[in-house]
Amino acid sequence: MDKDPAVVLAQTAGFCPGVKKAIDQVLELAQAGKAPIYTLGPLIHNTQVIEMLKQKGIRAVDALDEIKGQAGVIVIRAHGITPSLEAEVRARGLEVIDSTCPLVKNVHSVIGKYAALGYATVIVGDKGHAEVVGLLGYAGERAFVVADSEEARRLPALDKVNIVAQTTQEEDAFLKTAETVKSRAREAVISNTICKPTRDRQRETQELAGKVDLMVIVGAKHSANTTRLTALCRRLCPRTIHIETEAEADPAAVRSARRIGITAGASTPGWMTDRVMGRIKELRKKEAVSPFHALERLIELLVDSCAYTGLSAVGLTYVCMKLQGVRVEDRLLILAGLFVFSLHLINRVAEKGVGAVESRKVELFEKHQRPLIGAAFISGLLALGLALFLGTKIFAVVFCCWILGALFPFRSLHGQAGRVDFPGSRDIVTALGWGMVCACLPALHQGIVFSKANYLAVVFAILLVFIRSVMLGISAVHSDMIVGRENFYKALGARTTYAILASIQSLLTAVLIVLLAMGWKSRLVGSLLAGNLAFAAGSSTCHFRGTPKGFWAEAAVDGQFLLLALLAWLGGRL
Ligand code: SF4
Repeated sequence: MDKDPAVVLAQTAGFCPGVKKAIDQVLELAQAGKAPIYTLGPLIHNTQVIEMLKQKGIRAVDALDEIKGQAGVIVIRAHGITPSLEAEVRARGLEVIDSTCPLVKNVHSVIGKYAALGYATVIVGDKGHAEVVGLLGYAGERAFVVADSEEARRLPALDKVNIVAQTTQEEDAFLKTAETVKSRAREAVISNTICKPTRDRQRETQELAGKVDLMVIVGAKHSANTTRLTALCRRLCPRTIHIETEAEADPAAVRSARRIGITAGASTPGWMTDRVMGRIKELRKKEAVSPFHALERLIELLVDSCAYTGLSAVGLTYVCMKLQGVRVEDRLLILAGLFVFSLHLINRVAEKGVGAVESRKVELFEKHQRPLIGAAFISGLLALGLALFLGTKIFAVVFCCWILGALFPFRSLHGQAGRVDFPGSRDIVTALGWGMVCACLPALHQGIVFSKANYLAVVFAILLVFIRSVMLGISAVHSDMIVGRENFYKALGARTTYAILASIQSLLTAVLIVLLAMGWKSRLVGSLLAGNLAFAAGSSTCHFRGTPKGFWAEAAVDGQFLLLALLAWLGGRL
């Protein structure tokens, strides 16, 4: 719908594996309740991500002297450090986590191997860059750093030399410089240590830059690899702009371009690139507001404000009531909607700024934080009031679930996370909460708890909501949100997560087929089977064709409950 084939995003844009691994490691430490956590220098060259990490208690220090006391963890970032500094760090007595990228470690060993054989080392890279400083530590006495051929020509005459590259160098420039160095030595070994992710990114960027008339490079201005990417693009596409955030996108340049290519440096999170992409598409949209555009905006607002999620909880509660054969009661439907809306909104507001919500929502929450917090608490109070009206047992259940749900985003305060958190906790807790309010409450209210139909509805609701939550979590991970092991996909990995989702979908389908064969509530079960198969087909397509992002994807995932409710309602009418 909002697809604009004239705006192309490079597949290699964003975090490289080394940066991803380093961020995951510090987040795991934070989630395990380790504190304080220090990183030697900023973990990555991206102001927004550093700010988010700070909010998780992860602090960057420039020197060891800034660390007082012997408590806490110190993290060596992906760039690596010199062996002497590493020895100093270890002597501090703090727990040390080495997040040096394995590809940087490979350069360390290449340098160390030739240095031990008596070779001098020439590093083609940026003087003073953290990675280059680390590499120099492995090179011994005879080591030089050159940025280009011009500097290489000024080197003294060399005997045996090993020429390496900073991992993010541009390949052609490195090879050219290496040839100049070679000409100044009696014997030279050229070790092309540019890492594969960098080479892939440069190759794709070059291809893209040759096909567009505007290239947008997203990333910090002080990030060496992003700056290099910009220079590379400028040679192929003179209209290349380097921006840090979507606010810097030049409307005139964006509107006048026929075709736009977007890429990002190794330290740019996917959500920032998505944010820029969204802004560019918005700028290119026609000024006139069509009825469809207005509808799109409305749905976007409903999705972002969690109102749509509340509505989908109403849909699921209706389905659960039908499955259990209880009277459909408006008060219970409203209670479920208010409860889910309230807790999702509280969680979203609490997570604003730590990267767990998409960029467009950050804007919404920044602009309307107070009214949204007010709406979250008022709807929570209304849900509790309604529950009280429905009976003390209902109230007790709703009260306990609401308190636990509202406290969930604050579970990691004061380093307590390790004691209360577990892998996939967000998705599991969400599924249990929805199962309780959508399936258990109607049964409790009408006195059929522990009946077979009640068990069926509870399991049905929990499994469906679990799938929903995991799918949204997958989308968050693919956008480089700062999420930890509370995210099932992040905690268990892609293979296990997809295997579990496929097993749950198969189990649900099998149970519905058996019930249909037994003739149990045939019209309702037939409708649910059709809805379930449609959703399973949709989610498998997404799995094979790439995880969708944006509010339409979220609307589709939550919309399954509305679809099931509609089918259940139609099934009852036929
Ligand atoms: S740019 Fe390459 S070497 Fe550097 S951290 Fe990323 S993957 Fe590792």
